[in-house]
Amino acid sequence: MLEKNKAIQLTEETAREWLKKRGVEVKDIAELVYYLQEKYHPSLSIEDCLENVERVLSKREVQNAILTGIQLDILAEQKKLEEPLQSIIEVDEGLYGVDEILAFSIVNIYGSIGFTNYGYIDKQKPGILAKLNDKSSGQCHTFLDDIVGAIAAAASSRLAHRAADIE
Ligand code: MG
Repeated sequence: MLEKNKAIQLTEETAREWLKKRGVEVKDIAELVYYLQEKYHPSLSIEDCLENVERVLSKREVQNAILTGIQLDILAEQKKLEEPLQSIIEVDEGLYGVDEILAFSIVNIYGSIGFTNYGYIDKQKPGILAKLNDKSSGQCHTFLDDIVGAIAAAASSRLAHRAADIE
């Protein structure tokens, strides 16, 4: 077992590493933010989107959600969960909903417009979200797809709030 300070220190590093390991680059999430926000901010650059994603990723609540969700995805892939949770997560059972609730802990941070963005992107599934939802990959991303959508939604809200403050 790690001592407390070491565990805290490892959280951000590991959350970022695991996203990468599961096929999600920060740039992929920034592209989702761009997709959500370009119509409202005509001069928006991908760098603005990247910066907002970085700020969201630096939050402890977000790192905790990433670690928890990806861990469950990996255990489901390795068939190491107990039933019935193993089957529920492995087949991404529609009525389960805990993946979305975990994602809401991320969306919540930047207030209620985040939920609109989250709902929209979850329906459209652009870019990396389409890839994560491709069941033919053999990988389990039951939690990760919602987490990535939530990070993009939170970063979009952050960007929108800041733009509003400037105007
Ligand atoms: Mg899901």
